[in-house]
Amino acid sequence: MGEGPDPRLIQLVMALRGAGVTDARVLGAIERTPRDLFVPEQFAGRAYEDRALPIDCGQTISQPYVVAMMTQALEVDDRCKVLEIGTGSGYQAAVLARLARRVYTIERYRTLLKEAEARFAALRLTNIVTRIGDGSKGWPEQAPFDRIIVTAAAPERPDELLKQLKDGGVAIAPVDAGEGRQALIRYRRKGDEFVEERLFDVRFVPLIKGEARAL
Ligand code: SAH
Repeated sequence: MGEGPDPRLIQLVMALRGAGVTDARVLGAIERTPRDLFVPEQFAGRAYEDRALPIDCGQTISQPYVVAMMTQALEVDDRCKVLEIGTGSGYQAAVLARLARRVYTIERYRTLLKEAEARFAALRLTNIVTRIGDGSKGWPEQAPFDRIIVTAAAPERPDELLKQLKDGGVAIAPVDAGEGRQALIRYRRKGDEFVEERLFDVRFVPLIKGEARAL
């Protein structure tokens, strides 16, 4: 019954494994998420290359390797309530939705959010809750979260978001590291302390504070 898995997805997963992604659950989630649905039509032919691509509103869908490594570093399981800042195409949220109990995702561009919502519906991902707004403030009504993932670069430690993390929870964010560099930082909450680990350098669009765009 049904068609076998798309060979392009299998190839992408093999490439990610070769690049050092080891978590079988993360690779499985990527294998079940057709990335061509998340990119503009003119880039559909390149959706399975391991690279970032442009999406609407001058934003980007992250490179699959970065999505995989961030998801792996987040240590998500099916009991987790996850907050994502920067829905963009919705691809990262879709991958997370396969692993987590529920994903809350915030985007400041209405156009991007509407497109992402249509993709979630098409893939029957019913455990994603979306919101338009300034994600740098988090989602206080739904806090606390077991996991928080920021997919736009913060200028400094995102304290407003870390406040919304459960004790024992994990957050991942690209943070400006000076000299034009951005480092992916993992924070673990231990009471009122946040233990910080620098993972690797990345390149994300900036996290923009303030009013959401009606665009
Ligand atoms: N996770 C996305 C990649 C996002 S690119 C994906 O898988 O495709 C970063 C996104 O963060 C952009 O869409 C940008 O509009 C959004 N963004 C930037 N600042 C934001 C803010 N303060 N609140 C919410 N979204 C923001």
